[in-house]
Amino acid sequence: MKHHQRSQETLSVHAGKDDRSIGVVNAIEPSSAFHYFDEQTQLYPRYFNTPNQRIVAEQLAQLEGAEASLVFASGMAAISTTLLSLLAPGDHIVLQEALYGGTDALVRREFDALGIEYTFTDCNERELLAATKPNTKVIYAETPANPLLEIVDLQALAEGARRKQIITVVDNTFATPICQTPIRSGIDIVLHSGTKYLSGHSDLSFGAACTSELLYKRILDKAVLHGGNVNALTCYLIERSIKTLAVRVQRQCENATQIAHALSEMDSVEKVYYPGLKRHPGYEIAASQMSQFGGMLSFTLAEGLSSQDFLQALELITPAMSLGGVESTVTVPALTSHKAMPDEQRRELGIHEGLVRLSVGIENVSELLADITQAIDRTRSGSVPKRRVQVFDAL
Ligand SMILES: *Cc1c(COP(=O)(O)O)cnc(C)c1O
Repeated sequence: MKHHQRSQETLSVHAGKDDRSIGVVNAIEPSSAFHYFDEQTQLYPRYFNTPNQRIVAEQLAQLEGAEASLVFASGMAAISTTLLSLLAPGDHIVLQEALYGGTDALVRREFDALGIEYTFTDCNERELLAATKPNTKVIYAETPANPLLEIVDLQALAEGARRKQIITVVDNTFATPICQTPIRSGIDIVLHSGTKYLSGHSDLSFGAACTSELLYKRILDKAVLHGGNVNALTCYLIERSIKTLAVRVQRQCENATQIAHALSEMDSVEKVYYPGLKRHPGYEIAASQMSQFGGMLSFTLAEGLSSQDFLQALELITPAMSLGGVESTVTVPALTSHKAMPDEQRRELGIHEGLVRLSVGIENVSELLADITQAIDRTRSGSVPKRRVQVFDAL
């Protein structure tokens, strides 16, 4: 695949243009059966090689600075297929404790039966590297991490792992290639839940793995067997969404920065977690490896203020499980994304019920702040009607 030295803004719009298309946009090719006499390669959706799959794979490879990429039906399909392609019985993987709940559950619930050893560590490159053993094959990181936005030094991790001949995998869902390109820092594989920012409109499920030609072949072998492929229509929607990725994410980052600063000034807010705040422990590293600090932030309300009342009092910002959409959404991670985690582990990580996670959208930032302020005021005055919603046991 060819790589232009173009900016992320330009690549978002132009990468993946199919030369055969006579229009300005690429065609949708929904076929699952193709004339094999006409093509050198046999095309089939589960071979991950149909025209619309290839277009999105090319977009993402160029944006992430990867040689190749594969597109999947969900982030978890990309994560599970990739990990299972790299690990065999007797192998060991190191992961950070602060991890997407589904990935955490995949490892804890499935890897013992597969004979794959694992170690969870604190969320930084030193601990991740220190936990390796002679049979360690993979180090897995997320930065910024969910939900406290801890930062891992990508270059230090990549260099340390390479010396030990260990493959590094980074989930880049939160940062997107607009804020950070781990492969350019030496990381081997970048994974995405495209359900989030890449889609950006909260209307589809998608995943991706971006890497070298060599590792691509290894992941593809497994992917063909596991069948987590994505259909042409979803590929087209992702292709369309990626064209506005740079402008969306830029606006989300600007809004998040303003909201993080404003929250830091509020008496009713105890603590704000945003890597763009100078007192965030990961600020220096984030500033060196990210072009912008992302659209995700978390905060805790002052003691005595109920996060559930706060969510209920919001009028514009929507309580919703997912993230990365053009609309601002909010969750209480202890009750949603990290609900499946054992209580003790969750408390140790600092994810208590007062922690609120905000995915900042592209709305007018003053109106977002006004909504937060009125919701805090109503929470403090106790005027929110009590309504407890049981959130289903999601990952
Ligand atoms: C949502 C998410 C996933 C899982 O993606 P799905 O598309 O829901 O399968 C993985 N990693 C992170 C960081 C996520 O936010």
